[in-house]
Amino acid sequence: MPEKFDAIVVGAGPSGNAATYTLAKAGLKVLQIERGEYPGSKNVQGAILYSDALERIIPDFREDAPLERHIIEQRMWLLDDKSFVGTHFRSEDYNKPPYNRYTIIRAQFDKWFSSKVREAGALLICETTVEQLLMDGERVVGVRCDRLGGDVFADVVILADGVNSTLARKAGFHPEIQAKDVALAVKEILFMPEEVIQARFNIGEEEGVVIEMMGSVTEGMVGTGFLYTNKDSLTIGVGCMLSDFKTNPNRTTPYALLEKLKKHPSIAPLIEGGEMKEYCAHLIPEGGFHAVPKIFGHGWMIVGDSGGFVNAAHREGSNLAMTTGRLAAETVIAARAAGKDMDAKTLSAYKAALDDSFVMKDLKKYRDLPEVLHNSPHFFSTYPGLVNRAAQTMFTVDGVDKKTKEREVLGSFKAARKLTGLVGDAVKLWRAVR
Ligand code: FAD
Repeated sequence: MPEKFDAIVVGAGPSGNAATYTLAKAGLKVLQIERGEYPGSKNVQGAILYSDALERIIPDFREDAPLERHIIEQRMWLLDDKSFVGTHFRSEDYNKPPYNRYTIIRAQFDKWFSSKVREAGALLICETTVEQLLMDGERVVGVRCDRLGGDVFADVVILADGVNSTLARKAGFHPEIQAKDVALAVKEILFMPEEVIQARFNIGEEEGVVIEMMGSVTEGMVGTGFLYTNKDSLTIGVGCMLSDFKTNPNRTTPYALLEKLKKHPSIAPLIEGGEMKEYCAHLIPEGGFHAVPKIFGHGWMIVGDSGGFVNAAHREGSNLAMTTGRLAAETVIAARAAGKDMDAKTLSAYKAALDDSFVMKDLKKYRDLPEVLHNSPHFFSTYPGLVNRAAQTMFTVDGVDKKTKEREVLGSFKAARKLTGLVGDAVKLWRAVR
């Protein structure tokens, strides 16, 4: 007789670990299956950890989690090829524990989270790929793996297998992933001494800075760049929509964009001397609210990137992953306590809990943003250039009076987008983010 579990979780990223930990802590018999050599070995993130989502799962995580630096300053830069216009927000409130955001290195963080999952009593099997879901009619009853030597059964299977979930597609739960709904991101980790990082970014020990960038670096494609401070390394990366890479007339590659970002005159001095030790590429589901597929059915639920739960406007993914994992697990725990069958009707409580959480509320708020950005490449090309030229015009002291400069700036905006275009863009953007 094959072994049966209360729940099987596929994947040991943040969503899978959150689900498995919550289930195991409640005393359920849980099997977690991960295809990587160890949890985190296959995973990619910037990475900013938003502590609230983790704190709701492991309240004392700060005691031993591998955290790099807490973020005290957020910079947003609009780049052209030679300059940037930016806003910086730095607050001493972010320098008082308990801190709200940290940089992390995902391989280390996932390993730590997984150790907590095992301490809670779950059984983890690595280097094992789930190849298909086992069905009894419309109901998922277990999984078939590449090396467990047989099928494994459970009352419920939670798919936490990341973006481009082949399992959900094979089972017919997901349509084929669309290039317009995913970004392709690349990043490098550059090592340098802690003191150099602290001097360059004007921060003390354990303090961190985040720089998010848009503009010329993505060559008119919808996307952003980022630079984060770790303890003794920097993470630098760039990502653009896959559909834009496909149609880009210059056939630009993600790697070429990253090289360009690293050479930008405002970035190069910050990363100078950094020794590259890690390079990776990964997809990010950025289709938003309209791209979220069906996330539950008879005996199954989908969490994290596999369900498209990423808020691209705020660059949040891991916190949505952990929250969806926790809510899916809590649904199972409540159903079991009530002696309910894990059918679609019971598991619909997961969707209700998500709708009531920041996850769906935030995705809903920005539901039109992906489409607006997709149809407005000038937000990534024309405007960053205009804003940088306007700043240069106004800050250069050259004997030209300020009224004339203002007319010149206004004229450059009108020449590029016409008055109707400028008003239309402002209305479109406002509607997409209100
Ligand atoms: P994943 O982390 O992808 O984990 C899925 C796991 O499932 C993997 O371990 C994989 O090996 C395993 N798996 C897949 N298929 C199978 C199978 N068939 N059998 C067994 N195992 C399987 N989010 C933030 O919050 N902050 C950031 O700063 C940030 N920066 C990012 C930067 C980049 C470059 C990228 C790519 C993403 C970033 N994100 C960020 C998003 C964040 O990384 C994801 O939202 C998060 O990792 C999703 O977690 P997950 O558990 O759903 O999926």
